[in-house]
Amino acid sequence: MEVAAEPGNLAGVRHIILVLSGKGGVGKSTISTELALALRHAGKKVGILDVDLCGPSIPRMLRAQGRAVHQCDSGWVPVFVDQEQSISLMSVGFLLESPDEAVVWRGPKKNALIKQFVSDVAWGQLDYLVVDTPPGTSDEHMAAVEALRPYSPLGALVVTTPQAVSVGDVRRELTFCRKTGLQVVGVVENMSGFVCPHCAECTNVFSRGGGEALARLAGVPFLGSVPLDPELTRSLEEGRDFIRDFPKSPAFPALSSIAQKV
Ligand code: ADP
Repeated sequence: MEVAAEPGNLAGVRHIILVLSGKGGVGKSTISTELALALRHAGKKVGILDVDLCGPSIPRMLRAQGRAVHQCDSGWVPVFVDQEQSISLMSVGFLLESPDEAVVWRGPKKNALIKQFVSDVAWGQLDYLVVDTPPGTSDEHMAAVEALRPYSPLGALVVTTPQAVSVGDVRRELTFCRKTGLQVVGVVENMSGFVCPHCAECTNVFSRGGGEALARLAGVPFLGSVPLDPELTRSLEEGRDFIRDFPKSPAFPALSSIAQKV
C-alpha cells in the first residue's frame, strides 16, 4: 500500500542520490541531469534538487530557465520540466530575477536555503531525488547531508575526470562520505576519451581509467566511463532530452546504464 507523503517534506521519496565532484567543470550537473532523464525513461518518477547555489545550471540544461516556483499550502511547488510531470526540479535559479544574477551570500544564508529546499518543497511521491551539489566539500554539503539524513536511504554518486589531479580531488570526496557516513553508490568517470565521429577511433584526451582504479582502490562500485561527446554538449546547450534524442551517440550507452546501477 502506498503511504501518502507528508506535505512539504521528503517522506514520499524512495531514494536520494547526492551527486558530488572534487572540482567544478568535470560534468557533475551533466551527470545529474542525464541520470534524471535516464531514470525517467526507465519509468521512474524523479526530482532534481539543485543546491549548486552559485552555479545553478540544471534549469538551463533542462530548458526550464525563467520558469516560476509557486507556493501552495504545503510549500513550494517544484517546476515540472516535462509534460508528463515525471521530472520535478527545484533550483535557486528559479528564485533569481535574471540568469546572470549572482548569489553573493554568506554561508549561513546558503545553508538556510538548502534546509528550506529540503523541508519546504512539496516533492510528493518520488522514486528518486537527485541532488546536484557545488564542487568540493563545503558548508553547503554539510547542510545538505544534515538536512537529508533523516530521509535515507541517502547515497553519494561521485563524478571524476580520468586524470590524476581530478582523481586526487575525488579521494577527498570519498573521505567526506566516510566521515559523514554517506554510502557511496559509485564513481562515474566523465570525459573519458573522445570517439572520432569519422573513424570511430577513441583518443584518451585526459588519459583513461583513473576513476575505475580509484573505485577499485576505495572498494566502491564503478558505474561507468562517459566519453567526451559533442552531441551531449549540444543537447545540454539546447536543453534537449539526450537520452530520448541521441541513442546512437557515444555517450549514450554509459549514461543510460548508470541509471540501472544506482
Ligand atoms: P560541473 O557541474 O562539474 O561544473 P558541467 O556538468 O556543468 O560541470 O559540465 C561542464 C561543461 O562540460 C558543460 O558545458 C557540459 O555541457 C560539458 N560536458 C560535461 N560532460 C561532457 C561530456 N561527457 N561530453 C561533452 N561535454 C560534456
